[in-house]
Amino acid sequence: MKITTVKTAATAGHCMHIWVRIETDAGITGLGECVHGGHAAIALIHEFAPRLVGRDPFAVDAIFEELRRSLVFEGGFAGALITALTGIEIALWDLKGKALEVPVYELLGGKFRDKVRVYADCQVEPGMNFDEIRRVVDDVLVRGFTALKVDLDIHAYGHAQSEVAGFHKDRFNQTAGAWEHDRMVKLAGMVKAAAGKEVDVACDVHTRLDVPSAIRLARDLEPLNLMWLEEPVPPENIDAMREIKRSTTTPICAGENLYLRQGFRELIEKQAVDIIMPDIPKCGGLSECRKIANLAEIYYIPFAPHNVASPIGTMASAHVCATVPNFLVLEFHWLHRDFWSTIVTQQRDIIVDGHIALDDSPGIGLDLDEAVARAHQYPGTTWFE
Ligand SMILES: [Mg+2]
Repeated sequence: MKITTVKTAATAGHCMHIWVRIETDAGITGLGECVHGGHAAIALIHEFAPRLVGRDPFAVDAIFEELRRSLVFEGGFAGALITALTGIEIALWDLKGKALEVPVYELLGGKFRDKVRVYADCQVEPGMNFDEIRRVVDDVLVRGFTALKVDLDIHAYGHAQSEVAGFHKDRFNQTAGAWEHDRMVKLAGMVKAAAGKEVDVACDVHTRLDVPSAIRLARDLEPLNLMWLEEPVPPENIDAMREIKRSTTTPICAGENLYLRQGFRELIEKQAVDIIMPDIPKCGGLSECRKIANLAEIYYIPFAPHNVASPIGTMASAHVCATVPNFLVLEFHWLHRDFWSTIVTQQRDIIVDGHIALDDSPGIGLDLDEAVARAHQYPGTTWFE
C-alpha cells in the first residue's frame, strides 16, 4: 500500500480545526485532526505532501521522525510545524487501524481501561453570583460529569482591562492586585461550593501571573482541595514553575503549550508540576504523547491531556489515554457547540456519563460528516484539496 494524496480542510469550532485526509492506492483512507496550528500548519501540510506520496503509510513513527529531523532548521521542535506533522500522524494511525481492521489503541499497546474519564470545561463569568454559578455547574453535572474546570483570569473572557475596575493597572505586568486576587479566590470557592465535595474542580489562569502572585493564589486555594491550578505562569521557565509547585499543596498542572517529549523533558525531570497536560492533537500526536505519558509515569506524575478538539480529535486522544497507566482525566471543551454530536457520521455523543468508551471500531472509530463540517468551514481555507 502506498500513499497517493494528502488533502486538508478546516472548520471553525473552539479554534481552527484542521482536517488531514491521507489516501492510498488501496482505496483506504485515514483522517486526522490537529488544532492551534492555524493557516501556517495547513500550508506546511501541503508542503510536506509530496514527500509522503509513494510512502508506506504503516511506517507512522519513521515518517514523522524523518520529516521532523529534516526540518530542525525550520523549527522542527515546536509550534505550527509540529502541529502540521501531528495532523498527518493522527491520519496515518487512523489509516493503519482501518487497513488492519483494529482500533488504534490495539496498535499502541492495548488498553489499561475500557473507558476514559472526561472533565468539562465550563464558562463562568466575572461578576456572576452564586446562583448563576450553580446553574453553570449544574448544567455540567446533570450530563454526568464528575469533574470540571473554570477560568479564573479575566483575560480569558476577552475583557479589555479598562472594563473591569480594579484589575491590572498595567497591561503587561503579571501581578494580581488585591482586588483581582480576592476575586479569583472567591470565584473558585463558589464553584467548589456549587459542585460539592464529590466533584473534582480545576482552575485555569492561562499563564497570566508572576511567581509571587501565583504562589499567593495557590496557597489561598489550598482549603478547596482543587484537582489542580493550571498554568499559573508562562510555560518557558521550568524553574519558576517548580518554585510555585514546591510552595503549595494545591496541585499544579501545565504543558498545553509545550511540544514533543523533548519539550516535556525538563518539566518532568525537575518534577516542576504535579500533573502534565499535553494537547495531543497539537503537540506531536499519538505516539509522541504516549511517550510523554510514559516519561511522566516513571516520576509518578499523572497525565491529564488538554483538549479542545472535535469528537474525532477527542477520540484520538482517548485512544492514547486508554493505553497509559498514569492517565487521570481528559478535557472536553465543546459544551455549548451544538454540532459536537452531529459533526461525525455516527451521529452520537461519544461522552456518556462523563466517560468515553473505547469500542472495537477500526482506526479512530469515527468519521467526519462533511455536510455538517462544511457548514462551519473556516474562512479563507480550501475543502479537502
Ligand atoms: Mg489551559
